[in-house]
Amino acid sequence: MNIPSQLKILGRVIGVSIISMPSEYLGEYSPDDMTIKLSSAITDRPVLEETFIHEIVHAINDIVGFELKLQNVLEEVADDGEVQGDEAFNLEEEKTDMFSKVLYATIIDNKLF
Ligand SMILES: [Zn+2]
Repeated sequence: MNIPSQLKILGRVIGVSIISMPSEYLGEYSPDDMTIKLSSAITDRPVLEETFIHEIVHAINDIVGFELKLQNVLEEVADDGEVQGDEAFNLEEEKTDMFSKVLYATIIDNKLF
């Protein structure tokens, strides 16, 4: 899979960089500056590609607005307004992770790249 320095999702340009990150992170999508960051510490190519897909799913959810809607609904069942570490954040991560794994497998199994 080609990992470009930027990609377009529904006409929006998303920057992509592979950089040094804290060891607990594989990647990150930042909605504020619309960038995807991937950890340069990842040595396993499939892990890097699957992480890239994971962050693309976050970007799509952000652009389409699904994530915010889901987040608002989930915040109602979560105990507090904090995001990181609470139930809403974890469910969002689980959903994104499952979706991106299936998307990645579909791309590979069908030789889409
Ligand atoms: Zn995530």
